[in-house]
Amino acid sequence: MNDPFLQAHEAFPLFYWMSLPLSPISIRDQMVRGKMIIDRAFENEILVEGQDKGILVVGAGACGVTAAMTAAARNVPTVLIDRGSSAFHLQNGALTRYLDPTQYDWPLDHWQEGNFPWGALPAMPLPYQADIAGNVAAFWNISLNNFLSKHKHGSKLTILWKTEIKNFTLNPSNASVMVKLSQAGGSSYHRDEFGLVIWAAGHGTETCVVESNSKKVVYRGRPFWSIDYLTRPQCGLSVVPEVIIAGGGDGGLQDFLRAITKCESAKEIYKACKIPSEIERVVQSAEDRAHRCYIWGNPENKRHDHAVHLMLQADHSAAVQKALKSKQVRAGLKHLFPNTPDNVRLVYRCSHFENFYGLNRFLVLLIASYLEQVYSMNNILVPNASITDVSSKDGHSCASTMIGGCDGRPHSVELSSYPDCRKGIGGPLRKLDANLIVIRYGIDSANLKLSTRVRSAITRPRHSLPYHVPP
Ligand SMILES: Cc1cc2nc3c(=O)[nH]c(=O)nc-3n(C[C@H](O)[C@H](O)[C@H](O)COP(=O)(O)OP(=O)(O)OC[C@H]3O[C@@H](n4cnc5c(N)ncnc54)[C@H](O)[C@@H]3O)c2cc1C
Repeated sequence: MNDPFLQAHEAFPLFYWMSLPLSPISIRDQMVRGKMIIDRAFENEILVEGQDKGILVVGAGACGVTAAMTAAARNVPTVLIDRGSSAFHLQNGALTRYLDPTQYDWPLDHWQEGNFPWGALPAMPLPYQADIAGNVAAFWNISLNNFLSKHKHGSKLTILWKTEIKNFTLNPSNASVMVKLSQAGGSSYHRDEFGLVIWAAGHGTETCVVESNSKKVVYRGRPFWSIDYLTRPQCGLSVVPEVIIAGGGDGGLQDFLRAITKCESAKEIYKACKIPSEIERVVQSAEDRAHRCYIWGNPENKRHDHAVHLMLQADHSAAVQKALKSKQVRAGLKHLFPNTPDNVRLVYRCSHFENFYGLNRFLVLLIASYLEQVYSMNNILVPNASITDVSSKDGHSCASTMIGGCDGRPHSVELSSYPDCRKGIGGPLRKLDANLIVIRYGIDSANLKLSTRVRSAITRPRHSLPYHVPP
C-alpha cells in the first residue's frame, strides 16, 4: 500500500484514524476524510465491491456517517456503531449556531459558495448548505434515513446504537481485525471480525468549564454546540450585559463576533464591511505563509506554533490598519455599529489567537480596533490572560447551577497573567465583573479511548486537506 492519504490516516494495518491529533477538523474536513478513506481503500483493493467481509465504522458523526454510507453504497457490509442513540449528536441541538461549509476558505474565490459540494464537484453522501446547525443536521438525518430505506444497497448498512468498541486485535495473516463490542453500558459483549476499521469517534470532550487550582469545577459554561442567546439584544439578558468570552481559538472568536455584532454569521459581517480586494490578497498571502510553516510544526513544541501565530497576528493587524483607512470600510462598520455595542470582552492566553481560520481572526481584530478608535472601547481584547477563578457575587452557586443558570447573575472573574504560551500561566492579574461568561477552551482529547496507542502511531498529524473530494 503506497497511498499517501491512507498512510496519513493509518494507525495500524486495516485500522484508520479520523480524530485528533489530526488537523484540520472542520465538519467539511471530516467529511472529506470519511469519503476519501473509503474511495482510496477501494482504489488500493483493500476493499472490493460486493465483498463478504464487513467493515466497522466507529462514531456516527459527519465523518463516520459519510464513510459508512460511501462503503455501503458500494455493496460492502458496513456496521456503524455509536455510543449514543442518534447520529450527528453535536449539531442536532445547535439551534442558534450558524454553519457554513466554505466560510473557512476566505479569501479564496469559492469562499462565498456556502454549499458543499458546490458547482459540478463530485457528490457527497451528506451535502449541506450554510444554515443553522440544527437544520443542517436535520437534513443529514433525512439523507441517512433515505439511504437506509431507499438506496439499492441500503440494507448493507447496519447501525448499532449505544454500542462501543471495547478493544481490538489485529490479525494481518488473514487481513482482519477482531473487535470486541460492548452494548448499553458494557453489560453485554460480542466479538466480531472485520476487514477494516474506521475510527471516527470525534475528538474528545469540549472544555467549557473553569477549574480551580485544585481541579475543582468552579464555573460551567454553555457548550459550543448548544443553544445560546448571544445574538439577541443585550445577549438575551434582562440586565445590562457584561460579557466575557474566554479562549483565543476559533470558538471564542466566533462567539465574540456573534455577541458584539448580533450577526448570525461571519459572512454577514464581512459583507457589511466591504473589504477592498487588495487587502484580501495581503491576508491570503499571510495565511498561506503561516499554513506552510504550521503543518511542519511539532504540536508538542509550542515554540514552533508561537512564532507562526505571532507572524500571522502581526500581518492581520497591519491589514486591519490599512482597511480602517478606507472610507467604504468605515461606512460599513458604522452601519454595523450605529451605537456603542454591548460590553463584550475577549480574554485569551498569550499575545495571539490560535487558529488558522483567517476570516474570524481578521474580523475580530478589525472590529476591536474600530470600536477602540470610534467609541474609545479600549479593553475589548484582553490578551495574555487566563481565567483562574469565578465567584458568585449574589450568593448563587456557579458549579452546581444547571448550564445557563448563571446567565445574568453577577460574578467576579479572577484573571491571572498568561504572558507566553510556551511558558504557561503566571501570577494573579486582576478581577473583572461579568454576568455572562462563555468558555471556549477547545477540545480535550486526553480521554479519547485508544488514543495513547494511536498517538504514537500517527506520525504526520497536520494536513493540508483538499477543499473537496478530488474528481
Ligand atoms: C469549540 C468548537 C468549535 C467548532 N466550530 C466549528 C465550526 O464552526 N464549523 C465546523 O465545521 N466545525 C467546527 N468544529 C469542529 C467540529 O465540531 C468537529 O470537528 C466535527 O463535528 C467532528 O465530526 P466527527 O464526525 O469527526 O465527530 P463527532 O461529530 O464528534 O462524532 C463522533 C461520534 O462518535 C461517537 N463516539 C465517541 N466515542 C465513541 C466510542 N468510544 N464508541 C462509539 N461511538 C463513540 C459520539 O457519540 C459521536 O456521535 C468546532 C469544534 C469545537 C470544539
